[in-house]
Amino acid sequence: MSEEKSLNFLEEIIDADLKSGKYSQIVTRFPPEPNGYLHIGHATSIVLNFGLTKKFGGYTNLRFDDTNPVTEETEYVESIKADVRWLGFEWKNELYASDYFDTLYEYAIKLIKLGLAYVDDSSSEEIAAMKGTPTEPGTNSPNRDRSIEENLDLFQRMRAGEFPDGSRTLRAKIDMAHVNMLMRDPILYRIKHAPHHRTADKWCIYPMYDFAHGQSDSIENVTHSICTLEFVPHRELYNWLIEKLEIYPSRQYEFARRNLTYTVMSKRKLLQLVNEKHVSGWDDPRMPTISGMRRRGYTAAAIREFCDRVGIAKRDNIVDVGLLEFCVREDLNKIAQRRMVVFDPVKVVITNYELDEEMIHSENNPEDPNGGEREIPFSGEIYIEREDFMENPPKKYFRLAPGQMVRLKSAYIIKCEEVIKDEAGNITEIRCTYLPNSKSGNDTSGVHVKGTLHWVSVKHAITAELRIYDRLFRVEDPSSEEGDFKDYINPNSLQVIHGAFAEPSLKTAKFDESYQFIRKGYFVLDKDSGTSGIIFNKTVGLKDGWKPGS
Ligand code: ATP
Ligand code: MG
Repeated sequence: MSEEKSLNFLEEIIDADLKSGKYSQIVTRFPPEPNGYLHIGHATSIVLNFGLTKKFGGYTNLRFDDTNPVTEETEYVESIKADVRWLGFEWKNELYASDYFDTLYEYAIKLIKLGLAYVDDSSSEEIAAMKGTPTEPGTNSPNRDRSIEENLDLFQRMRAGEFPDGSRTLRAKIDMAHVNMLMRDPILYRIKHAPHHRTADKWCIYPMYDFAHGQSDSIENVTHSICTLEFVPHRELYNWLIEKLEIYPSRQYEFARRNLTYTVMSKRKLLQLVNEKHVSGWDDPRMPTISGMRRRGYTAAAIREFCDRVGIAKRDNIVDVGLLEFCVREDLNKIAQRRMVVFDPVKVVITNYELDEEMIHSENNPEDPNGGEREIPFSGEIYIEREDFMENPPKKYFRLAPGQMVRLKSAYIIKCEEVIKDEAGNITEIRCTYLPNSKSGNDTSGVHVKGTLHWVSVKHAITAELRIYDRLFRVEDPSSEEGDFKDYINPNSLQVIHGAFAEPSLKTAKFDESYQFIRKGYFVLDKDSGTSGIIFNKTVGLKDGWKPGS
């Protein structure tokens, strides 16, 4: 099917570049800054970059854009690698922009020698004040016409650590009246006496994004450097630096950032949620992070499918999270093991059941012919869902009610004979009879019932904790609302059900397996499960209960 899809604009560019012989193979890179965990927006970029080289040949590098010493941590590097692999992609080379610090320093020296960069003693406030506005030109720094010798001397002393943070910068010498504000002598290097997660205290000057990113692309012979739309104005500087330095001509292409409804995507905001304990961590199942979604039970295949369906665009947009949930549900329906779990139990006693217990057989997945079946113990006392019984039902109520019959999934037809209540009027027990000749697969009773209920045998049941999630935010786009985005957190995004009863096969539930709790939704084992009990996360409901715009 994907073969027939028309090419997107990036695929068209690459297709043309290969056909014209401009490149013999293409090289892309995924360049995360290791200052947080990857989120679903990054997944779009990963699927795009790796997908292009998968489709057109060539390869993709994983490059950590670690030029900012203050915010980057090794923990993030490890999580990013794990997440990319989990999504199903393998990079050709694991690279770090910080490995290029020596080369970048040499490039800076080259620019100074060409008379195209100078050391500026102005403070950041002074530089901002001299920048001008989109309609007015900027003014030249008093240091702009320093001699090459003086610039070389000062830059080397910047590197040697002679000057405090913020006291000097290295700037490109372009044009303070340029229509593109980013071309008005952009800062290339700043002084920062801070240890770096990989280079430790070797450096006290660090290159700015614009003086690292394009150069790193070049060093790696990246043919198509794909980034998001906010970098459109940077492209001119990207090309200027490549041209002046006479390095490999990587080319930058931009596509629209993908956001998702009912969440936030910036790592800075996600970090706030973590630090201020609105969530339990980066991998909280309500987070839009890859690790959160994995813990929630989303599959890599579903996330890839979502990214493909959304495609790429040239205008920023916010995608309905309902589409992501749809993709998850579609995938889980095919692969999830069916199990029975009663969330809010009421006891049913089958008065004419004479066996102590017997084994019932039930298919693991009706969507999968090779899914096999499992045994479920059945006995004369079972739990059903409290909401599956009504004492005074309306018409067309097909669940259990006095005098009415239902089928117990994969087992027998039962009929409600009597309701037992406590003094307060709460139902404590439902007494039923069963039809011994109505066993599923061997039903000779001739009775047809419309309702089928899930159930668990009382003496075989195991208890489980269930964590049910709702949207983390109450509004579609918390970042665009007035005030702090955290004012829009949904206070009821987590509901915990203690003491649900599960069929015993779930005692050996596996972390990497998805389960459909029949009639209830898709669930996955949570990592908090342990000796104190088993815990499941609700991944997504069975049906789309979420109406767009509601
Ligand atoms: P954030 O604002 O969340 O911190 P970022 O762009 O600073 O995001 P990076 O680590 O620099 O995060 O991003 C790595 C790559 O992922 C970049 O190429 C970036 O363009 C891409 N990317 C990040 N967020 C999105 C998004 N929401 N949609 C599409 N691509 C994204
Ligand atoms: Mg960034």
